[in-house]
Amino acid sequence: MWYRSAQGLFGYMAVPLSESLYVWMLAIPVVSYILLGQWLGFAVTVVFFALAVGSSVIKLGDSHVAWEAASLNLAVCFISVAGLAHVYEVVRANTERQLRASALRDSLTGTFNRTGLNVRFDYYEEAAADVPAALGLILLDLDHFKRVNDTHGHHAGDRVLRRVARCIDTHIESGDTAGRLGGEEFVVLLPDRDLDQTRRVAERIRYAIASSHGRDKSRPIEITATLGVAVRHRGESLDTLLARADARLYCGKLNNRDQVVSAVPPDADPKHV
Ligand code: GH3
Ligand code: MG
Ligand code: MG
Repeated sequence: MWYRSAQGLFGYMAVPLSESLYVWMLAIPVVSYILLGQWLGFAVTVVFFALAVGSSVIKLGDSHVAWEAASLNLAVCFISVAGLAHVYEVVRANTERQLRASALRDSLTGTFNRTGLNVRFDYYEEAAADVPAALGLILLDLDHFKRVNDTHGHHAGDRVLRRVARCIDTHIESGDTAGRLGGEEFVVLLPDRDLDQTRRVAERIRYAIASSHGRDKSRPIEITATLGVAVRHRGESLDTLLARADARLYCGKLNNRDQVVSAVPPDADPKHV
């Protein structure tokens, strides 16, 4: 197709004009948009249009043909095809962008899902390849969340999950990442934070959740969370980092919940550390 289109352009310059050259010229915008995408496709189309119309005017201007009408006809056809190709590509590119974004998001809370968390973790890893930087992780599990569902129903439970996502969101910065690992478990990734800084963010989130107020038919829905905090060691995978945070979170669950744990006490059960 490219070969025929290039041939078409060459034909405009080198040989007398013919109907078949017109046909190949109209294929240029379609091929350009399909192969090169929105912006490069547009650029190639505009350049080709200028060259083709320019050379047509020069050639037909020398002949006895009514070149104004022929050039106008050609221009209208070309612009119509190019316009359709452009609109099609813009819609296709937007749809692809939306699908890609939603594949990384949790539909209930709007935070990242497990796949999105992995993508963000890899992104931080790459950014730290040249300049090693700390990465803090918070693993958050709501306390007795099953009771919320059992008492107030699943929809009320869903509202609580959205409320928790908002609490997290208001206590992290724009470069940080919040995600829902599944069920009532959330993860926060904090680039360039050491253990102490991560623990302080976790404490603010814990407090925000415990003091937030939800209602179900005027009955209050109170909720608390237990949070395990860990900082990545060099080269460590997300799963390993999560496992360490989970061991700390588990200690908090055993110790009356509603707290942040950043170190496992020495007397903890080694099976869970
Ligand atoms: P613990 O303090 O030990 O964490 O107790 P828990 O009740 O929070 O934990 P458990 O694992 O026993 O229960 C989790 C509940 O979360 C069970 C499940 O029905 C509920 N759940 C999981 N996903 C969703 C969801 O998307 N929406 C709602 N409303 N509930 C969910
Ligand atoms: Mg859980
Ligand atoms: Mg829980």
